[in-house]
Amino acid sequence: MNSIKIALQKIPKDVIKAKKFHLSRGISSSAVGPLTQFTEDEMLMKETVAKLAKDEILPLVKKMEKEGKIDDGLLKKLFENGVMGLEIPTEYGGAGSNFMSTILSVEEIAKVDGSVAALVDIHNTLVNSLIMKVGTDEQKAKYLPKLAQQFPGSFCLTEPNSGSDAFSLKTEAKKDGNHYVINGSKMWISNSDIAGVFIVFANANTSAGYRGITTFFVDREMEGVTIGKREDKLGIKASGTCMVHFENVRVPEDNILGEFGKGYKYAASFLNEGRIGIGAQMIGISQGAFDATIPYTLERKQFGNSIFSFQSMQHQIAQVHAELEAARLLVYNAARLVEAKQEFAKEAAIAKLIASETALKVTAKCIDFMGGVGFTTDFPQEKFFRDCKIGTIYEGTSNMQLSTIAKHIKKAYS
Ligand SMILES: Cc1cc2nc3c(=O)[nH]c(=O)nc-3n(C[C@H](O)[C@H](O)[C@H](O)COP(=O)(O)OP(=O)(O)OC[C@H]3O[C@@H](n4cnc5c(N)ncnc54)[C@H](O)[C@@H]3O)c2cc1C
Repeated sequence: MNSIKIALQKIPKDVIKAKKFHLSRGISSSAVGPLTQFTEDEMLMKETVAKLAKDEILPLVKKMEKEGKIDDGLLKKLFENGVMGLEIPTEYGGAGSNFMSTILSVEEIAKVDGSVAALVDIHNTLVNSLIMKVGTDEQKAKYLPKLAQQFPGSFCLTEPNSGSDAFSLKTEAKKDGNHYVINGSKMWISNSDIAGVFIVFANANTSAGYRGITTFFVDREMEGVTIGKREDKLGIKASGTCMVHFENVRVPEDNILGEFGKGYKYAASFLNEGRIGIGAQMIGISQGAFDATIPYTLERKQFGNSIFSFQSMQHQIAQVHAELEAARLLVYNAARLVEAKQEFAKEAAIAKLIASETALKVTAKCIDFMGGVGFTTDFPQEKFFRDCKIGTIYEGTSNMQLSTIAKHIKKAYS
């Protein structure tokens, strides 16, 4: 009894303060554990989505790749299973899950198909998330049920002349009475072939520079909206990527999402979250390639032994496994920071940078481990390899992630 008393007295005041802080936020000490430890709800979502990916997505992967589009029936199933409204509250028809569940869902889908993962990720982490966090009650009531159950949304930031330098965008929104008239073109817009609503970043006060950038809801059927042809891409071929043109599109003032002139802030902060989703897509693709490869290395015999049995092969396999595991932990850590409402911009950039660069290595190595057959379309490795290349480009290139990380390093040491 005495010894317990002494031990308790030794607990530093800071620790007790931190414990009280955690308990006041509903975080119990049992919540502290390995990053790969999930709540029951997260585990349930992970398993449900993994089953959906295996049963419903896998049989359609080749067809969708060939056609360059997401299968209509599959899209319906994604809605029916709550995958398009992962964090949307149940009162709006969503699944009411948390951010970690979204990350796990994207990862599970990407193990099977990078294109469907792109659709689900961008729709949930950029479009739904932005509306949930800055939309008015009326906007939430109007759009969230549809986004959870009816149509995908697109996030329209990039333009032909503004990519990495996103806030130099030229799309304009001019006030006309209680409407705005939008003119401009957006490029590389994911899901735009099937989206029902576009979240459009346009400058509504050009004299204020980037501080004029404002976010608007633009419905697909509005007059003046046209969707360009699908881009023919290296990878994620079934994910529709098109230009979207806005020609004198009149939108009511009420279609401003969030505050006037805050578009640049929303784009920057929501892309930070989105990047963790891209990290999840990358670790999913890597794991999918790895899972499809290792059984082959155990079965395939050369020189009278399985190719896995050669030490130089084992070391390379162990190396990519270790790097993939490290990338996964970075992605999960960034996701947990989001949930803990702590700073995560640097960690999100690191997670995306490392996960996308790791995916390139893992998938390329998996092709090597397969030998000649890995280079053919009869096996999935080449598709995983092509699909992961986008990870170093969209939602900020690897250079842009490095710039973000460097900015944080400078701040920490200045
Ligand atoms: C398949 C696909 C889907 C996409 N989906 C969407 C979407 O849904 N919504 C959307 O808004 N956008 C989307 N994008 C756009 C994407 O985010 C941009 O392509 C990306 O941000 C890079 O911009 P960019 O293509 O103009 O390249 P650029 O900005 O021209 O960059 C070219 C090269 O220059 C480097 N570079 C540029 N500036 C610097 C600098 N200051 N320092 C160091 N290096 C620099 C870059 O790192 C890169 O290597 C998508 C793109 C693709 C390919």
